[in-house]
This record gives sequence, structure tokens and C-alpha cells, in this order.
Amino acid sequence: MIDIQNVSKWYGSFQVLKHCSCQVRQGEVVVVCGPSGSGKSTLIKTVNGLESVQEGKIFVNGVEVTNPKTNLTKLRSHVGMVFQHFELFPHLSIRENLVLAQMKVLKRSREEATAKGLKLLDRVGLGKQADKFPGQLSGGQQQRVAIARALAMDPICMLFDEPTSALDPEMINEVLDVMVELAHEGMTMMVVTHEMGFAKNVADRVIFLEAGEILEDSPKDEFFSNPKSDRAKHFLSKIL
Ligand code: ADP
Ligand code: MG
Repeated sequence: MIDIQNVSKWYGSFQVLKHCSCQVRQGEVVVVCGPSGSGKSTLIKTVNGLESVQEGKIFVNGVEVTNPKTNLTKLRSHVGMVFQHFELFPHLSIRENLVLAQMKVLKRSREEATAKGLKLLDRVGLGKQADKFPGQLSGGQQQRVAIARALAMDPICMLFDEPTSALDPEMINEVLDVMVELAHEGMTMMVVTHEMGFAKNVADRVIFLEAGEILEDSPKDEFFSNPKSDRAKHFLSKIL
């Protein structure tokens, strides 16, 4: 579903990604971890073309993201992305947040978009909040709305960039629970997170990135019981 082939990227003279290759197969959950500044956000954003690359190729479901002729708007419409900061439209109600892209991008009628949005809102446990505004919800609730909004687009895969790292501790689990459910339903997911409990629970593989290099790409049991690199060992010893 996601195929990253020998990707390198520079910001000016600073090389942020170094010959990165990895795949996420359909239905797989791959967790990406690594120290701050190692290039995790940059890597995940290359998947839907939010960051361009100077070398290498990236395919999503057979479509080449790195081909300048590819219609990125169309591609992004079915690659769900959830960021650290919830990025809901603050001046729109939850209901409007849920229907806007469905109507604009997928050309769904308001009725259809509303029905779909409300069903997903219910699914993330927020069925009663449709008429509120983002600022009236907690961080955890806003992030669940952001997930529902992404799901309303019928994504073929979901990208998460530290979806719980801006949340107060007591709200982390309500967001992770939604993600675990999605994983169990077979959603293809690439997840940047330091939540190693989530990784142990639902990841198929764990990728460890450092200084722009994929130092490890292992089945999760192997990653946790016997990380190959000393850097990954050190990283795990600090966060577990
Ligand atoms: P991570 O998500 O692992 O913390 P990032 O992908 O955000 O890492 O950043 C990797 C490195 O690239 C960092 O050193 C960061 O300062 C640098 N960086 C990120 N975005 C830019 C940018 N737009 N211009 C220049 N440097 C950047
Ligand atoms: Mg980041």
C-alpha cells in the first residue's frame, strides 16, 4: 500500500532523510519511532506529498507520489492524515468540520456527508457533540473528531504523526483506543508515536529512525526483545 524506495531529502545543505526504504502492506500497522529531530514527521509527510523529496520514489496503492504529474489533491483525498495538533477549523462546528471536505473534495451531498460524518462521530464516542465548536471540546475529544473527519473520506490508509503527544496524560488512552479499534478492523496505518504500549499491542512492525536513517525495520516482537542497533537499545531504555 505504501512503498518508500531509497528516499533522500535535504533542507538546503542539511540532509534530513538518508536513503530511506520501507513498505507498509495492506492491513499492516507500522510504528515509526526515534529521537526528536530524526526526520519522522518529514518521512511520514512525504507519503502524501506534503514534503517533496530530491531522490527516490514513493508509491501509494500503486500511484507514484513523487511523479510531478500525479494529482496530489486527489491522492490526499484518500490518504487520511492526523497530526499532533488537531487542526480542526476553529470557526466551524464539529458537524461542519466533518462534512466540509466530503462535500468539496468528494462532491457528496450535504445529506450524505452529514449522515456519514455523524455516524463516524458516534463511532469515536462523540455522537452528542456535533453542534459544539472545537474550542468547547477537550484535546482528546478534538483529536477523535480529527480521526472521524479523516475516516469520513473513506481513506485507503491512515498516517498519524504523534497524535497523542500534545494531549494531557488522561486523554491519551481515549485516542489510542480509537486507533487500536481501527487497527483491528484492518486499516493500513503508518503511525509516528512514542506510545510503545500501542506499538506492542497492535503494530506489525516497528521502524526506528535516527538522523534521517532507518536503523531498524523489524517485526515488533523482535524490535522490543532484541533491537539490532545500540541506538535503538538506548532509545528503548530511555522511554520504556
Ligand atoms: P521529528 O519529527 O523526528 O522530530 P522532523 O522531521 O520534524 O523530525 O525534523 C527533522 C530535522 O529536519 C530536524 O532537525 C528539523 O529541525 C529539520 N527540519 C524540519 N523541517 C524543516 C524545514 N522546513 N526547514 C529546515 N529544516 C527542517
Ligand atoms: Mg515530528
